[in-house]
Amino acid sequence: MQFRELGLNKPIVKAVTESGYENPTLVQEKAIPLVIENKDIIVSAQTGTGKTAAFALPILQKLFDKQDASKKGKKIRALIVSPTRELAIQIEENFQKYSKYTNLRTGIIYGGISFEPQKDMLRKGVDILIATPGRLLDLHKQDAVHLDFIETLVLDEADLMLDMGFIDDISKIEHLCPVDKQQLLFSATMPYKVVELAKTVLKDPVKIEVAPTSSTVKGVQQLLFYVPKPEKIELCLHLLRNSIKGSVIIFRRTKYGVDKLEKTLLKNNYKVDSIHGDKTQLLRQEALQKFKKGDINILIATDVAARGIDVKNIDTVINFDIPNISETYVHRIGRTGRAGQNGSAFSFCSADEKDYIISIQKLINKQLDVIEDHPYPLDPKAKPEVHKSPNSSKYRKGRKSEASKKKKKRWY
Ligand code: AMP
Repeated sequence: MQFRELGLNKPIVKAVTESGYENPTLVQEKAIPLVIENKDIIVSAQTGTGKTAAFALPILQKLFDKQDASKKGKKIRALIVSPTRELAIQIEENFQKYSKYTNLRTGIIYGGISFEPQKDMLRKGVDILIATPGRLLDLHKQDAVHLDFIETLVLDEADLMLDMGFIDDISKIEHLCPVDKQQLLFSATMPYKVVELAKTVLKDPVKIEVAPTSSTVKGVQQLLFYVPKPEKIELCLHLLRNSIKGSVIIFRRTKYGVDKLEKTLLKNNYKVDSIHGDKTQLLRQEALQKFKKGDINILIATDVAARGIDVKNIDTVINFDIPNISETYVHRIGRTGRAGQNGSAFSFCSADEKDYIISIQKLINKQLDVIEDHPYPLDPKAKPEVHKSPNSSKYRKGRKSEASKKKKKRWY
């Protein structure tokens, strides 16, 4: 199948060809004609499947067909809501790339930076707006953004959006747009709450499922190391020294864990940086840029901070902590072995994480290859460590102070 056959115009096909894409991916093949036909769709697809172009190309196509001649007084006609800033930036880069040979203008708004440049951009007018929910509502309150002419609303990474507590924001945004808009919902996984959301916002949607989360990425070598929790750092250093080459993403469950590991790797002279929810937008962007450019080859991240980020050529993913949600494992290892390249995923499992491995193996319907030949083996009879009393835990205060509970700070 060719992009032309999907009903895309020349300027868009030209930009796509220049991006180096030869054929549409499966999700593009299925979604593009439906979006052009004005259907609502609910798509279950992960990052890496080409899902951004699956909504960006037909949106551009539709807007291109009716584009304003003048640049003045442009009205926002497509709105893409994304849960994280990084993802929003990535989506915007995609729109810029594909709209190169059109007059269509794309803008982006997200929190953590000053309002003024964003207001300026909105005043000048854009056809397509990419936004994170909080900043969008803030700017709407200030009367700086108008959603009365939205023709297509995209909710990207809907599952993450709900996990991050954006349900009310999404509902507000949906109501601020015209009733008869087209809606596209993309989600990596389809838990019950996403299905329920879809029922309330979409009109008779067509379902598209390209890669069920249970199918792990082909070409990724998945290795499992049983290791006592306190020795995970040693195992990590051992593998970095002896087995792991190239670019590496290391996933940890908490910000605290990310910072701790980063310090150790820096002490050992590794070129490393990190991203998590406590870092400023600027620092997160810098870390990503350094990683993308190859100035550093190790990036440590929490799941939420790294979700959806498209970094090419990652050789290895390390699951330093085993995720307690099995789908997260699939997302993490989906970072490597992209676009037909081979990659490796190393998982470090301590005694208290064994149950997580059992669930993961069930989900992916595959046993991970256990590597027994390493210097920090876990005694098969080792029992999970249990904190005797919450009051005696040395981490208790640092982990959840009264102040942090009040602030409801995120842990990712
Ligand atoms: P996404 O799933 O949208 O994050 O896209 C993952 C990567 O695939 C991005 O780097 C895109 O540039 C790339 N991509 C998207 N569509 C195609 C295509 N049809 N052929 C080759 N690469 C593509």
